[in-house]
Amino acid sequence: MELKYIPKTSLKPWLEKVREGGKQIYAPVAENGKTSFKRVKSVDEISMEHVQTAQSAKGIAFPRTEKLFSYAKQQGDVALQDYDPGSLPNTLVFGLHPCDAAAFKPLSGIFNWDTGDKPFNERMQRVVMVSLSCSKCDPFCFCTSVGGSPGSAEGSDILLTAVGSDGYLVEVATDKGKALTEPHAALFEAPPDVNREELLARVPAKFSVDEVERKIAGAFESDVWKKQSARCIGCGACAFVCPACACFDIQENARGAAAGDRIRCWDSCGFSLFTLHTSGHNPRETQSWRWRQRLLHKFCYMPRRLAARGCTGCGRCSRACPVDMNLAEHLSELEKLKT
Ligand code: SF4
Ligand code: SF4
Repeated sequence: MELKYIPKTSLKPWLEKVREGGKQIYAPVAENGKTSFKRVKSVDEISMEHVQTAQSAKGIAFPRTEKLFSYAKQQGDVALQDYDPGSLPNTLVFGLHPCDAAAFKPLSGIFNWDTGDKPFNERMQRVVMVSLSCSKCDPFCFCTSVGGSPGSAEGSDILLTAVGSDGYLVEVATDKGKALTEPHAALFEAPPDVNREELLARVPAKFSVDEVERKIAGAFESDVWKKQSARCIGCGACAFVCPACACFDIQENARGAAAGDRIRCWDSCGFSLFTLHTSGHNPRETQSWRWRQRLLHKFCYMPRRLAARGCTGCGRCSRACPVDMNLAEHLSELEKLKT
């Protein structure tokens, strides 16, 4: 890992140079009391004051809706037009926190577990991530309980850590990161002698995730799922804000009878329609079964099948839940289950 320092006064010139070099920039922007990732026209729009953005950065590789291909009937045949990977922009995602950067590993596991998902992989190839360590957290954060840390570089090409208010420690983790810094070497300085751990937020560990996995693996028939999900209204907000949720639906956007687009859009395993069969049978017919699936998938099936957990402890699902379901509290309860 290469270590450098960038003064705050050089951050804007660096990002402007990267932009002039042909990359669009996605970064947190504060609007109407919420901070969200947006394409910025000027680096002055970037906000770095938030604890956590309302939405994660996953949309950069797994957009909320995306056209997979178009079709048109032509003289008794059907012509297909694949999406054009050449049209995908080269993108710098700036200012995501370590829990968001780390979530691209489980996402990648899902989109490559049986066959490689071309749109996801091609978007990822065009993305470079410059993350920002967390110097503050809130009671919903629990990255340290699921193997993360407020200063983890996992998933990042470059990780910045604020050193006071004057500049940032720069950890260059990958070749993509090197390609962003080396052409602009004059903007960077030698790293100061600081204790990096003291620059990071203190995120208390709330439970043992290994123990949660062990307990829930044998708790399929437990009443705990019903108790925990009693107030869940199945709104899907938790899945839509989650950086590691990858449920999607395929929809048809028909333009008359002869042409249309095949669209992929975000979905949620918390929706009753998600597993409803055409026959009318629903293998997950109650909200408690859907809640059980959500937690078993993230904390048991994914670690075993993909060697990646489906949760990075960002806390968004708990912040967004309209009925105050708190994932860390539920996981702490599951850790203590009697088996
Ligand atoms: S499950 Fe909740 S806490 Fe975990 S990554 Fe998803 S939104 Fe964040
Ligand atoms: S956000 Fe809350 S109420 Fe909505 S589906 Fe998730 S757990 Fe249920």
